[in-house]
Amino acid sequence: MTKKSLGQNFLSDKNILSKIVESGQISKEDIILEIGPGTGNLTNKILDQAPKHLIIIEKDKELINILKKKFGKNVEIINQDILECYDNFKYNTPIKVFGNLPYNISTKILISYIKIKELKKRFNKFIFIFQKEVADRILAKDNSKNYGRLSILSSWKMTPQKVMDINPKFFSPKPKVWSSLITLTPNIKFEQLKKEKSLEHITNIFFNQRRKMIRKPMKQLFDNYEEIATKLNIDLNIRPQNLSTKKYLEICKFYEKLI
Ligand code: SAM
Repeated sequence: MTKKSLGQNFLSDKNILSKIVESGQISKEDIILEIGPGTGNLTNKILDQAPKHLIIIEKDKELINILKKKFGKNVEIINQDILECYDNFKYNTPIKVFGNLPYNISTKILISYIKIKELKKRFNKFIFIFQKEVADRILAKDNSKNYGRLSILSSWKMTPQKVMDINPKFFSPKPKVWSSLITLTPNIKFEQLKKEKSLEHITNIFFNQRRKMIRKPMKQLFDNYEEIATKLNIDLNIRPQNLSTKKYLEICKFYEKLI
């Protein structure tokens, strides 16, 4: 019996599993973390590539028993909630993270990783399956309807890339919506902030009122909002989706002077 509350939609199609693994370009030196291995279908494919070390984190105790029987000592099996341990793995080489993510917490997982300070040093690549609608938001560029918080946060520190969309028929049980496989590669250079959570805070304020002109959130953030808008060359009559990630980061820098 699969558990809907844990977002259990399993993949067993060999071609799709191969495509996921290919997207991660696994080498013999790689340390891999897999989030939510389920019954271990993707885990098996990853193991075929003989990485240096494979850690799998699964919240469901019943599945842990299956995974232990299947993989024994070849894999480090952890029965925990990923949201409590996503940052527990510290190695000298950056880790690759795979996951056909549980949909109810997929954006939480992504944002938790983005907020890790030295992301590039710690993580080499993320190979994730999201609901297509979420992937579209991650990949969106400014001036488009899907552009928002997730696009800005993701492109701040990473380069997201679409690999392919996946038809619901390939999952069991079959979900109602399409999914997308994407990779996110941490960038060497990105705008440093005093606090990793500042950009999340700023974008929350702007996109909570996505149809309103940005005058309103700017006024909410700064007493001298008109002066700041002039300095940053921002028109206060545009809407949040018309501001580039670069401009959000500039706004964030001003905000950080206040805190
Ligand atoms: N990787 C498997 C596959 O592709 O067939 C399963 C993917 S399924 C979409 C998501 C998996 O994440 C399930 O096995 C579920 O039990 C597990 N899961 C759900 N919430 C979790 C959490 N908070 N921490 C770790 N694993 C979780």
